[in-house]
Amino acid sequence: MSDYHDKIETKVIHAAKNAALETETGAVNVPIYLSSTFHQESFDSFGPFDYSRSGNPTREALEQSIADLEGGERGLAFASGMAAISSAFMLLSSGDHVLISQDVYGGTYRFVTEVLDKFQITHTFVNMTDLNEVANAVQPNTKVIYIETPSNPCMNITDIEGVIKIAKANDCLTFVDNTFMTPLYQNPIKLGADVVLHSATKFLSGHSDIIAGLAVTRTAALGDKLAFIQNSFGSILGAQDAFQLIQGIKTLNARLSQSSQGAQKLAEYFQAHPLIEAVYYPGLTAHPGHEIHARQSSNAGAVLSFRLPNKAAAKAFVEHVRIPVFAVSLGAVESILSYPNTMSHAAMPKDEREKRGITDGLLRLSVGLEHVDDLIKDFDQALDVAVKQAKEAAVIS
Ligand SMILES: *Cc1c(COP(=O)(O)O)cnc(C)c1O
Repeated sequence: MSDYHDKIETKVIHAAKNAALETETGAVNVPIYLSSTFHQESFDSFGPFDYSRSGNPTREALEQSIADLEGGERGLAFASGMAAISSAFMLLSSGDHVLISQDVYGGTYRFVTEVLDKFQITHTFVNMTDLNEVANAVQPNTKVIYIETPSNPCMNITDIEGVIKIAKANDCLTFVDNTFMTPLYQNPIKLGADVVLHSATKFLSGHSDIIAGLAVTRTAALGDKLAFIQNSFGSILGAQDAFQLIQGIKTLNARLSQSSQGAQKLAEYFQAHPLIEAVYYPGLTAHPGHEIHARQSSNAGAVLSFRLPNKAAAKAFVEHVRIPVFAVSLGAVESILSYPNTMSHAAMPKDEREKRGITDGLLRLSVGLEHVDDLIKDFDQALDVAVKQAKEAAVIS
């Protein structure tokens, strides 16, 4: 966009302001335009805005800023991550086929299996970490390959460029859910992806306060098509939430950098703890996707998962930690601990869950902004209790 702020750390602060309409007041923040309709000065030629479903100045500043951050031509803001994702799938037509990561976000899984199915848009779940499996699963009517990397909750890493190569060879579009990394750490469009999707509910807004979604397209033509769907379907982000998201994005670097440093320390801490059977974090050299992730992303991020020996141990741990909230969601100022088994992946049959490593002892942690030494101290005392519970459960069963 401009040559005086090349670095994303600077862009997150100024991108929305630069995109906003020039105001007469000099306000340093993008104004919240609470207006559903816009007066037209001339009878025969209309201004840039007419009705806020089709376009709103506050939302537009956000949309241009996410396009700038991701390096795409067009950004679009939706009422939720799922609204962005499902709208992107509406680029497809009846008879088309989608190849999709088997460990995709639960809501995406539900949309693809239970909604797209009704419109004769078929799908195949694949292990995206295996490029041969991806290439072999492409069908003549495959139109989209859908990636999520790192995936949830076991942080599997997909080789984005490898998949894009397969997609391009088969005339398919590539969609990437970039929620976990954000444009701060991973830029799929620069690697050739066609659509990048975000649950902006998570790191981009960062305060567990709003539900929001963003989409960015690599080309203007695809952007026009998605904007048409956005306007037709109508699940736009409201102006107040757009403002709040603009404010959240400004502190993205400050928040995510600190949280990611904490996550690296905590991953190493859990890895060294005798009760923990496995730690899933791409920042660990032992992680199978470590090298691919390091090639395509500049940081391992702030989410990790770890496995306790059984449900009794996981329960004791959750009941004895004092700092994190125990909740679904991630990417906030407070650390969030969740139990994928009954939370994010409850809809999945038990054998499917276990195939994906989502066992009774697995917990996911989104690291917040608390001091990491306090978190380690808290986890240490909770793990002491969990050790006892794990042993008792093992004796009983
Ligand atoms: C939360 C999430 C979504 C869905 O976003 P909502 O804002 O909850 O609709 C999609 N993908 C990923 C990876 C998520 O974590």
